[in-house]
Amino acid sequence: MDSFIEEVLYTHEEIVARCDELGKMISKDYKDRPLVLIGLLRGSVPFMTELMMHIDNDLQIDFMDVTSYHGAKSTGAVTILKDIRTDIKGRDVLLVEDIVDTGLTLQDVMNLLDERGAASIEIACLLNKPAGRKYKCLEPKYVAFTVDPKFVVGFGLDYNQHYRNLDYVGVLKRSIYEK
Ligand code: IMP
Repeated sequence: MDSFIEEVLYTHEEIVARCDELGKMISKDYKDRPLVLIGLLRGSVPFMTELMMHIDNDLQIDFMDVTSYHGAKSTGAVTILKDIRTDIKGRDVLLVEDIVDTGLTLQDVMNLLDERGAASIEIACLLNKPAGRKYKCLEPKYVAFTVDPKFVVGFGLDYNQHYRNLDYVGVLKRSIYEK
């Protein structure tokens, strides 16, 4: 095990197996309906890459980079650093996230995409941390794993932009971020 990891939560094999299960569910739910997968940069990249290869439907992919910030007007306080180029009006959209924690990012992005007239929007995430929820957001429909409120890294998830390239998900040792 890597020296900075306290515990491996999900191995690469377990993640791929869950992506296969989710991909099958999504293919069935959206049967004969082309999809637009929108990944939120940067953490969603490995999960979206794996997940889309298990979806049989015709699909397009795009990416969005946003920052949400807490403040007096937290709702709608989303800054788009990189926008999608796909016109989502009338399209079935699947928003792909690495982890849903407080729900702020999703709340803001959903409001934004709603205004653009998508036919439907659902959320797929690698990890769901329901104990961290502070904002009312659409709950993710396709969840690979539900995790306890611990700080995790790997398979796209970072600490100060590190560890995204781990092929598994693990709990980061406290000594790494408390030193
Ligand atoms: P939310 O807006 O609080 O739901 O934030 C979701 C974002 O917070 C994710 O896309 C991650 O970038 C980050 N995040 C939340 N929990 C963790 C974690 O345990 N490890 C790494 N990043 C996290």
